[in-house]
Amino acid sequence: MSIERSAAPADAGPTPQHRLVDGSLDDNSAEQAEEASLRPTSFADYIGQEHLKANLKLAIDAVKKRADGTVLDHVLLYGPPGLGKTTMAGVIAREMGANLRITSGPAIERAGDLASILTNLQNGDVLFIDEIHRLRRAVEEVLYSAMEDYKLDIVIGKGPAARSVRLDLPRFTVIGATTRTGSLAGPLRDRFGLIHRLEYYKIPEIERIIERTARLLGTTIAPEATALLATRSRLTPRIANRLTKRVRDYADVNGDGIIDVPIATAALQMMEIDELGLDPADRNMLRLMLENYGDRPVGLNTIAALTGDETATIEDYYEPYLLQLGLLERTPRGRVVTSKAKAHLNHHPSA
Ligand code: ADP
Repeated sequence: MSIERSAAPADAGPTPQHRLVDGSLDDNSAEQAEEASLRPTSFADYIGQEHLKANLKLAIDAVKKRADGTVLDHVLLYGPPGLGKTTMAGVIAREMGANLRITSGPAIERAGDLASILTNLQNGDVLFIDEIHRLRRAVEEVLYSAMEDYKLDIVIGKGPAARSVRLDLPRFTVIGATTRTGSLAGPLRDRFGLIHRLEYYKIPEIERIIERTARLLGTTIAPEATALLATRSRLTPRIANRLTKRVRDYADVNGDGIIDVPIATAALQMMEIDELGLDPADRNMLRLMLENYGDRPVGLNTIAALTGDETATIEDYYEPYLLQLGLLERTPRGRVVTSKAKAHLNHHPSA
């Protein structure tokens, strides 16, 4: 399997200030390289998401058994950042023995960019489109017919001399990833045969991920320290890995390199990550909502104005985990801070 990654998006989109626990992938290439080295490459290595794995395995086995040149149906994976969508695309490509081509919605600026990606594909290739909800409309329309019947409709020339040509494309599989299906145009969504939501991980699964990462990093971690880090990782593998690496650094500098409970506790305190995995930015947001609106629902734009973030950042990076924990509730009139959140903030009087 070969992996090819197209240029980074020109417009990086929702740009959370870098937070340790925000689940996004930092733009710096060192983090990207390190992350790539920790990525599971097979279903056996990919921890958790059992339902998703069972469905995908079945679909892949069926295609392999048919052996008549059909390719895997297009797959749409959705869920909060850092849960393993990109990783799963790699696993699927490898299980299919296919090449993986990686791009993202914002990176494909014009229909012509998509045309050049598509015409360079080979039969059976997997095209991973991250942030697919951010594709431009004109690009999306070209993608429809490409996904539907492996044809590329392009317009050559301009004005009255313009003419449309239809090219045959190789058979390929699109794997789309999005943090929100709601933002995906209906016709695009309809082109996917397999649509799956990635769930937050269970604590024992996060523990296995931390153990695996520590092993790959060549670090010793005590089981109690693994359990502690797991509870702070927002049920998200990317954050679990990031915390493990930070705590490993702390252990190297302040101890003998072994991660035990005192070292992990001290490192987490330094990072200001509390026992629910919240960082100062989360607590600040909840506190601002409470101080200004009390029990009343608060609209997304208002929350963004209060914290100084973009609405997309709130929706993608803060909110899903806070909803999952029951610290925030979504109502038709806005978001409400729950009594559970109030009790939590009372334990943490300052941000
Ligand atoms: P997403 O595309 O959903 O934002 P990624 O696939 O980039 O998330 O995953 C982030 C990191 O988390 C990966 O580098 C990988 O090391 C780790 N990871 C994700 N899912 C798993 C998993 N199921 N098992 C082990 N590690 C995982």
